[in-house]
Parts: sequence; C-alpha cells; structure tokens
Amino acid sequence: MRVLLLNPPGRRIYIRDYLCSKTTKSNYLFHPVDLVVLSGLLAEEHEVSVLDCMAERLPPAEALVRIQTAAPEVCVMLVGAVSWEEDRVFGEALSGTGIRILAIGDILHEASELRLRKEPWIEAAVHVFANGDVPAYLRGELEEIEDMTVRDPDAGRTPRRTQRVTPRQRRGSFRIPRPRHELFPERGYRFSFAREKRFATVLTDYGCPYPCTFCVIGTLGFQTRPTTDVLDEIDFLRTKGKREIFFVDQTFGVKRKRALELCRAFEERGDLSWTAFTRPDTLDSELADAMRRGGCHTVILGAESADEAVLKGTRKGYDTAAVRRGFQTAKYAGLRTVGTFILGLPEETDASLERTLQFALELELDFLSLNVAVPRSGTAFRSRALELGLCTLEDLVMDQGGAGGLLPSKTLNAAEVIRLKRRFNRRFYLRPGYLWKRLRAVRTPWELFAQAREGAALLRRNL
Ligand code: SF4
Repeated sequence: MRVLLLNPPGRRIYIRDYLCSKTTKSNYLFHPVDLVVLSGLLAEEHEVSVLDCMAERLPPAEALVRIQTAAPEVCVMLVGAVSWEEDRVFGEALSGTGIRILAIGDILHEASELRLRKEPWIEAAVHVFANGDVPAYLRGELEEIEDMTVRDPDAGRTPRRTQRVTPRQRRGSFRIPRPRHELFPERGYRFSFAREKRFATVLTDYGCPYPCTFCVIGTLGFQTRPTTDVLDEIDFLRTKGKREIFFVDQTFGVKRKRALELCRAFEERGDLSWTAFTRPDTLDSELADAMRRGGCHTVILGAESADEAVLKGTRKGYDTAAVRRGFQTAKYAGLRTVGTFILGLPEETDASLERTLQFALELELDFLSLNVAVPRSGTAFRSRALELGLCTLEDLVMDQGGAGGLLPSKTLNAAEVIRLKRRFNRRFYLRPGYLWKRLRAVRTPWELFAQAREGAALLRRNL
C-alpha cells in the first residue's frame, strides 16, 4: 500500500509527538518521533512517504493538494489536544477524499472509543507507535494488535479498544526496523540546543519507569532497544553526514549499564554531538563524564519547582537537594544544562513561583524551559484536576507551552500564571551577565545564528 505519515497543518507551530502536544516555546521543531519510528516499521511492507506540514509550513489547502498528488491509500496522522479543532477540520476534509485515516495523539490516549464515535473520519486510533500494531492492522491481523482502538465489524463498526498488552506489561526490550530518516524533509526542523544545522531525532527507549503525576510518558511502560540496533541507526545517520543527534528518550541513563555502553560506543566513533533528557537523580559523575566523552553537550533536566510540597505532590521522587546535585554534576562534567520547570500546579502561589525563579537563578542554568501544568489525558494529574473542579471532561484543548486551555491553581487564575511565566522568562533571559555567558559559549557559526533566532522568538512570545 501507499502509506503517508502526516503531521497536519496548523495556524501555529505545534509539536505533536509522543502522546503530547504543545506550541513551540521559541521556534524549535524537531522530527515527530512517532512518525520517525513508524517510518521504519511500515517501510518493511509498504511504500511510505512523509508530509510534515509543520516543517514545510504548508497551509491546509496546499497540504490537501500535496496529499492528493501523492495519492496514499492510508494516512497515519498526528493529532493533538493543542490543535484539536484544526486537526478535526483537516481530518474530515482528508477523509472526504477517500483516504483511510489512522490517528495518533494525546487526545486519543483516554476515552478513545467515545472519541471515535464522535469522529467518523478516524478509522482507528493508534496508542503505541513503537510496536507492530500499525503494520498488523494494515495486514488485517487484528488479533496481533497489542493496543489500538478499532471499529469492530462484528458490532456494527462500534469502536473498541483492544488493550491486550497493558503498559505494566510493556517492559524489557523491543526491536524496530531502522527508522527511515531519509524520508523526512531536510529543511524546516530546528533545535534550540543543536550545534549543527542538520540533526536527527532518535529514540533508544520507549516510555519511562517513573510515575510523575503530570506526565503521560510514565503511563506507557518502559522498554529499551538493543544497543546494536541503536548503533546501526546512528552509523546510518553518520553515513548521511548527520552527527548532531537529539535523543528523545525521556530519561537517558535509567538503565545505567546500557547507557554507559552506548556512551562508550559513541566515544569510539568520536564524531557525535548530542542532547538528551535525563533526571537530576540519575546523573552521577560517572554517567555525566561518559556522556560528555561520548559527545553529549547538553542535558535537559527536570527541576520542576523550588517548592518541596509541589515536588512531592508530583511524585517526582526527588527533592530540591537532589536537583542541585544533578545540575552541579552536569556542570562539573562540562555539560550545558537546560532546567525544565512546571508552573501552575494546584498548590502554586505567587510566592512559590518567586521561589522557583530564585532557584532557577541559583542553579546557573544555561537554558530555562517553562511549562504550564495541563490536565493531559491519561495522567493522575488530570484525575486530580477533575476532582478539584479545576477542569471538566470536556476540556480537551490544552497547551503546556501556554497558548491556551490552561488551569487555574487554587489561588492563581490561569491568566495570572501566564503573566508570571512571561515575566519569569524575561527576568531569566534578559540578564546582561547571562547574555554575555551565552555569547562566549557559542562554538559554531550555526549555533550563533540559531541561538539568536531562538532567543528572538522566545522573547516575542514572552513580551
Ligand atoms: S521522569 Fe520525566 S518522563 Fe519520566 S514520568 Fe517523570 S516527567 Fe515523565
């Protein structure tokens, strides 16, 4: 079959991937990892093409023409809570051309049967992108599917979720054919921390073993790819001249021995340059040094909040002392740090936000990334927000980047959280000492250009 992997158009730059969706906080846009992984899985049996309307900034009418020209029989389409109203309109128009649509995204992570009843343009919902479900579905082998929502022919096409493998059972290792990076556009992707213009987005594990209440990734189970498969993929990218990698694993180093093995293999190659997420309590000096030697230049660490009660409430499993240690360890190893924070959880107050900013300044971060708490489908935080009456089941549109669908905390309204978030960003990024430090740390002409562009976009969004 001809199968199209589609990131649909939108009015803003949306990041829809890994069962999350948000607006970009500055200007960055990386390859949607669901489609990257599916490209390898589907290319084994089908003629696969990719259309990323976000990367190409294609308006809906042009996107429809491009799709009709490609004439796919099936389209696997990303959808997102952040862009749901636009996605529905586009999906309906696409389905009107006779193309079958399988959809994947955060909005379908919960109550998918109900959602499919309301959305006849979606033939089936995909819940796991890193297994054989979509290929099995296209072969008509429904009994092979681990977890999709399909329209049941025996029940008059009533949508039915086939959860044969639960997230709890999803552990150990998994294998996927090499993702077909070459199908993705060469232009249009930007990554704030990359040292080179051309970069690839790579997944070496799936899900996360931690239970943080606000995060959907912890609800997916946790599996790792064999290191040999990862290295084959990396070596393929190197043959194409891509040595800058964004590892989208949510906690690099959870499986310590494996992470050290990967870092050693990267060090042997000697030409890689990369960024990864990890946790402050996972990053000790042995791991940080190994990452640095393997070519890592930037680590993204969840600091979340300076308020111990807020941290405890999110079940992060660490306190502010562990956060300080993690950032110090990264710094001693020579890694740049990105601190991510979550603002506007129910216990948030004016005073706790101020403490969090002071904390961010004390940590001497290289970059600050602020997210707003949103009741993402399938999370414990969503259940709590519903209980507290902070949102309703009908609240589907949301954006942790802060553009809409936001929650009040118990004492701050949503507009106040956004106002404080913007002020917080300006106070952090507009310090003269900080700007000078950033300038001195630039290593390549591309990095200088990219940081100026990202910085300008960030400020525009935070004025
Ligand atoms: S450690 Fe990170 S990825 Fe894992 S559940 Fe917590 S916030 Fe999510």
